[in-house]
Amino acid sequence: MLTIGMLGGMSWESSAHYYKLANELVRDRLGGLHSARCVLWSADFAEIEELQRTGDWAAAGRVLAGAARQVEAAGADFLLLCTNTMHKVADEVQAAIGIPLLHLADATADAVLAAGLGTIGLLGTAFTMEQDFYRDRLTARGLTVLVPDEPGRRDVHRIIYDELVQGIVREESRARYREVIASLAGRGAQGVILGCTEIELLVGPADSPVPVFPTTRLHVEAAVQLATSSSAGR
Ligand code: GLU
Repeated sequence: MLTIGMLGGMSWESSAHYYKLANELVRDRLGGLHSARCVLWSADFAEIEELQRTGDWAAAGRVLAGAARQVEAAGADFLLLCTNTMHKVADEVQAAIGIPLLHLADATADAVLAAGLGTIGLLGTAFTMEQDFYRDRLTARGLTVLVPDEPGRRDVHRIIYDELVQGIVREESRARYREVIASLAGRGAQGVILGCTEIELLVGPADSPVPVFPTTRLHVEAAVQLATSSSAGR
């Protein structure tokens, strides 16, 4: 089995989910007492959030590239960047290491395409919904990407930072997400990407009239598939 490297802490609420899911999926695949081999580096999210807010992506890239080198040195065979948003600096992270980065948008696009869908809604932070780095990776795979209207994007973003990354789950926020998802479906989205690793702590299939694509689960599934299908590793 290969060793999964994780750059987490963005936020730790979702990293805890990554860690638990990875172990559950390895157990389900291999049975018995098997669990995931992994190395987890966990950020102080306050530092990362400040760099996001001030637009200092170069510094954020340097922090995560340094962390990725540590994860590689600790024995990881490949790397997960456990946040959609910070894939804005995925190229800088990949350039710093000799192991592959398993890109979250690729794992997500694979799942959407496997489901036979072509037009997809995207929920995430404002960075993920409004900038090109993530959407372009999906459209390069032939997908048409819809994002919520401005009030929808504002609420989706606010609920992530004011609540979900702090472990706060509110019924009224779930209701607002349901509204935003329904509106995307009404505009033609055949499915909705939960493109922030905390969103699946708030909503799931029961909250959507169309299939949802939870990025934490999809990322971990791809990682466990890779880790357990190889006879290599230590
Ligand atoms: N975990 C979130 C994501 O997947 C947001 C936190 C962050 O900005 O890294 O985008």
